[in-house]
Amino acid sequence: MLSVQAAQERIHSHFKSVETETLSLAQCAGRVLAADIISSDLPPFDNSSVDGFAVKASDLADVSTASSRTLRVVADIPAGFTSDVSIAHGQAARIMTGAPLPKGADAVIMVEDTDFNNREAGTPAPKEVQVYKTVNHGENIRTRGMDVKTGYKVLFAGHKLRAQDIGLLAMLGVANVPVYRKPRVALLSSGDELTPVESPLEPGKVRDSNSYILASAIADSGCDVMSLGIAPDNRDTIQFLLDQAIAMNADVIISSAGVSVGAFDFTKDVVESQGKLDFWKVNMRPGKPLAFGEYRGVPFIGLPGNPVSAFVGFEVFVRGALGVLSGLKTVARQKVKVRLAEVVESDGRESYLRAVVEEKDGVLSAKLTGHQGSGNLLSLVQANALLVVPAGVKSLAIDAQVDAWLL
Ligand code: AMP
Ligand code: MG
Repeated sequence: MLSVQAAQERIHSHFKSVETETLSLAQCAGRVLAADIISSDLPPFDNSSVDGFAVKASDLADVSTASSRTLRVVADIPAGFTSDVSIAHGQAARIMTGAPLPKGADAVIMVEDTDFNNREAGTPAPKEVQVYKTVNHGENIRTRGMDVKTGYKVLFAGHKLRAQDIGLLAMLGVANVPVYRKPRVALLSSGDELTPVESPLEPGKVRDSNSYILASAIADSGCDVMSLGIAPDNRDTIQFLLDQAIAMNADVIISSAGVSVGAFDFTKDVVESQGKLDFWKVNMRPGKPLAFGEYRGVPFIGLPGNPVSAFVGFEVFVRGALGVLSGLKTVARQKVKVRLAEVVESDGRESYLRAVVEEKDGVLSAKLTGHQGSGNLLSLVQANALLVVPAGVKSLAIDAQVDAWLL
């Protein structure tokens, strides 16, 4: 039997990242960056971090509430505007948060520490301001480059762009962003028993839930789903559907069901006639059977049919492969350590168990969500984590530490 890791490595080795494209920044959320981003100075100029008055700190050396000092206001600098005025001793400029510091000033006194506090918006700058407090040299000033210096690598190729990353790109003026294009994933369910969700259920039939589970998971991985529907047990139709995947330039074909021994399945024949398909037994549960091959040069991954097995198979084998296609630098999934709140039995295979993880007194504590049958989708719905019990482990005591993937 193949170890999970060996199967993952074999699958991943058949994938490489898709091509890149350039998108305008607003279209980039969730996309994978295709080039390193080198910063310029942030902030780009010295500016005030408060609303107040730009001053020379030495003018306010021994000022207090009891002994205030009056400064002459010689400029008014709203955010977004510069001033040519240079601040001399005894002078100040009204300044707003984010506005550039005028020449001559070396500190900003907060408006709250002056007699100009609590004015309505739109009040013009006063001619004079009385200051009640001292201020340190440099206080309330954000100096040019204090956050990031020119030349610093702020974002890396292979990084999936989050809201804050997009914000940084905007700050740096990166209007057009090199990203990997979205991989195209063709999706097929197979089995004569399957009925689409909108059709009435006839005796002996079941709803095709895998198409929906896997389509959501694929979309959530940042890929485009090309749904091929349900493959009936008919060679020509299956070939027609798979050829559609080729015509739509799919980067990978994912199917579910028909990978277990003795499965009544024509998908295997059709794929083999145009490529190859290997059936693996992976040392894991749920989802021991797995098929991997290619159809007309496009990688083909066949997941098990039971909905929980299909989901776990996706998380274990497909998500990482899609990550490689997407250009992600790191596809290994983050694990957290949790403590078992109950005894957990396993059969020695690497097991992915559905669990609820909750924080209790500062530790993450895990409880299984009922019976772990691979058709019991509710136990997955109720779970917020998969516990990863390593191969070779048959029993874990209460309080034992185990890895978990948070879902
Ligand atoms: P198989 O892998 O074909 O032996 O299928 C295993 C089990 O999964 C059977 O009970 C199938 O009815 C079920 N199954 C297969 N495909 C799907 C699907 N797309 N949606 C829901 N159940 C499925
Ligand atoms: Mg079947």
